[in-house]
Amino acid sequence: MIGLLKILFLEDVISDAELIWREIEKSQIAFEKLLVDNRKDFVEGIATFNPDIIIADYKLPDFDGISALNFRNENTPLIPFILVTGSINEEVAVECMKAGADDYVLKENLSRLGPAINNSLNKAKFLKQKLDAENALRESEERFRILYDEAVAGLYRTNLQGDILMANKTLIKMLGFQNFEELASRNLNVAGYAPSYKRNTFIDRIEKEGEVRNLEATWIRKDGKAILVKESAKAIRNSEGKIIFYDGIVEDITERKKVEEDLDISNRLIEGILNAIPARVFWKDINLVYLGCNAIFAKDAGLIEPREIIGKNDYQLVWREQADLYRNDDLDVIRSGKPKFNIEESQSTPDGNTITLLTNKVPLFTSNGKISGILGTYIDITYRKRAEEALSKSEARFRSYFNSSIVGISITSPTKGWIEVNEHLCDLLGYTREELLLTTWSELTHPEDLNLDYENFDRVVKGEIDGYNIDKRFICKNGEIIWTSLSVRCVRHSDGQVDYFIALLFDISERKRAEIELIHSKEKAEEGDRLKTAFLNNISHEIRTPLNAIVGFATILGRYELTPEKKKEFVDIIFASNNQLLSIISGILSLASLEAGQEKISEAETDLNKLLLNVYEQFSITHKSAEVEFNYQTSLPDTLAFVYTDPVKLMQILVNLVENAMKYTHKGEVSFGYTVSDNKLQFYVKDTGIGIPQDMKELIFERFRQVDNSPTRKYGGTGLGLSISKGYVELLGGSIMLSSELGKGSVFSFTLPYNPVTPVPSDEKNHLKDSGILIPPGKTILVAEDETNNFLLINEILVDMQLKVYRAVNGFEAVNFCSPGNLPDLILMDIKMPEMDGIEATKKIKGLYPQVPIIALTAYALEEDKRNILSSGCNEYIQKPLNRQLLFDTLAKYLAD
Ligand code: ADP
Repeated sequence: MIGLLKILFLEDVISDAELIWREIEKSQIAFEKLLVDNRKDFVEGIATFNPDIIIADYKLPDFDGISALNFRNENTPLIPFILVTGSINEEVAVECMKAGADDYVLKENLSRLGPAINNSLNKAKFLKQKLDAENALRESEERFRILYDEAVAGLYRTNLQGDILMANKTLIKMLGFQNFEELASRNLNVAGYAPSYKRNTFIDRIEKEGEVRNLEATWIRKDGKAILVKESAKAIRNSEGKIIFYDGIVEDITERKKVEEDLDISNRLIEGILNAIPARVFWKDINLVYLGCNAIFAKDAGLIEPREIIGKNDYQLVWREQADLYRNDDLDVIRSGKPKFNIEESQSTPDGNTITLLTNKVPLFTSNGKISGILGTYIDITYRKRAEEALSKSEARFRSYFNSSIVGISITSPTKGWIEVNEHLCDLLGYTREELLLTTWSELTHPEDLNLDYENFDRVVKGEIDGYNIDKRFICKNGEIIWTSLSVRCVRHSDGQVDYFIALLFDISERKRAEIELIHSKEKAEEGDRLKTAFLNNISHEIRTPLNAIVGFATILGRYELTPEKKKEFVDIIFASNNQLLSIISGILSLASLEAGQEKISEAETDLNKLLLNVYEQFSITHKSAEVEFNYQTSLPDTLAFVYTDPVKLMQILVNLVENAMKYTHKGEVSFGYTVSDNKLQFYVKDTGIGIPQDMKELIFERFRQVDNSPTRKYGGTGLGLSISKGYVELLGGSIMLSSELGKGSVFSFTLPYNPVTPVPSDEKNHLKDSGILIPPGKTILVAEDETNNFLLINEILVDMQLKVYRAVNGFEAVNFCSPGNLPDLILMDIKMPEMDGIEATKKIKGLYPQVPIIALTAYALEEDKRNILSSGCNEYIQKPLNRQLLFDTLAKYLAD
């Protein structure tokens, strides 16, 4: 015992107590003590002092030893209790021992106390050990029982007869019973756990092999549900080796089996998927050694079975050339822990080709998040790549056709927007591609053509037709309207709905213009025909009238004796009629020449003021009406009125206009003149006559046009004058216009370029101009003229000028007339003559005697003829009928000294 022995003394007599203590000391027992003499202190002393032994007096005033003993028995039975008593009989002693005291000592015999203490302590120690052992056993049994009951496996024991002797809770629960008794009511030899449970086979095996291990069987629970179990059992034998029990252990593997089956299914599923998908799948460990792959990957690697890949690396496979490349990708993924997608790379194949791959690689992680390797998939995109290239080539080819097409092409949506337009269409409509794509075709369609387009478009959408062809107009960006021939076709989805439209557009504006022009010219031709008919009617009337007069009066002159006055009157009528006829013929010829484009300009220095004076004089002779005032105005002073122009044509224009003005004016005034402004000569002919309706202002300049075309018209005329005038003005570089008011009068005005001639001294000019008095008398003139009448007329004029006249009746005679000693001073040469014409004769004479001036006389008014005449050598030509003044002026030019 360690330390002092703790003794609780229950004693009321201190001297007795001291005696006891002395006696204990004598027994060599070292102790410490607590002395109490009543119940309260005793109870407290046990609790606080925690004694190793109690020594109590049997009799106390307030308490007694037996009560103290009872208290100990109930509360601290393992503390030894010794009773000390003064007088004790045998019965008391028995009572004390029965009550549980460990010993009793008489006060008279205290020497026994030491051994009594030691004995009691030993007994208590032994008791305690026994108790401890019993507790330990109980605990172990309990633990075993719990273990047995709560074991994860079901445990049981049966005897040879099939009675269930033991079964743990797990088994009872596994089989769905309430308690052991319920389970034990079955006999396994009679009714096993399942209909198919072969107890005999089970027993045979145990007997032969001593045990069965992991026997899988289906058991039926109490509720009839089947469970799958795995059972192991052992035979327990007695000392003679005879089997007395079977101990078994049963595991419910229904769930595990299901999980295993599920796992198996999912493994097979994964394997199936891996082998069914066209993608190649592989996985590698952290050292880039292959752990597995699917069948198609194995095939790419030239292997027969996927498992052949295990343990290999890329350098050991057919793509060793690309191994570095692949492993770099792998390392990227491993280092970064991030996947890499859509890596396009090449791969060598077992048959020596190269294919293109599209690869994805993702990292693989362990359950604690560490990278354990990579999983890769790739697809063979060789064909796709080739197809893409082919597609992009064909797309490029299509785009180039599309854009280089000389036809406008568009792809449009069913909502009328453009999806794509080609360059030609953009050019056609004047938009950039981006601008055009922001519009719709309907916006750009001419409003008048929209309905036609919509009708056809709707029929296509409804599926009635697949396309249509129409001519329609588009409004271009610059506002211009173009005509197109539109050809639309549609492309449909499989459900018949329109996917998009393809439209081809040809620019047919030119054709349309030509069509319109054709219609115009047809109308014009018809109008021309009408005009011509009217003209022919007019002309026959216009020609018949003077012809009738000529023939009529000539007959009278020939047949009757007439007074000289009458004769003169009739001759005047014949002359006037003749002039009228000539004017008609020269008009027709001029117009024909103009329209044939043969009319040429013959510019010469022209005295403008003199020309206007001539016109004025020409009309003032015939103008006799007192109701109409007639005058003219010039703008330039006489000395500066010299310009370059074609005087003959200018004269003709003015004569035509003034003649009309006179003809259509019955009252008021006719005036004409010119001004100079803007470097132009501005001519005008103004009258207060009948005027011209507004709608005829332009038309009146067309040939044969007359305000009144009817057969009953009031005014004569051929409808040629204005169109000739317009033709001449334009030929001379000017323009003509009319302003007129019906009933009030008209103003015809025209411009000509102002080309002034540098002024020459006035006396010199006058000298030239008044050449009549300067022709020296007696000069010889040869007149070659086959027509006697014509010759007589010319002769009359020349003789009047005191000239000496010779005649040749044809060109031949004229040539013969000329000889070195007999050259005329001038030859007047008719062009149209028998035997040898004037052109031929002139060529011959000029060939021999170039100094002889030859002046042609011709009725031909055409430019072409004029050119022929001049190129034959003639110095000039004068048109028939002869104008006396002109003839005089021309002769003066060549005969003056
Ligand atoms: P015409 O020989 O018929 O006069 P023109 O060509 O000179 O032929 O004129 C054509 C037509 O123009 C005339 O028939 C006449 O109806 C109209 N016209 C021309 N000048 C005048 C004018 N000064 N006043 C009114 N009408 C005119």
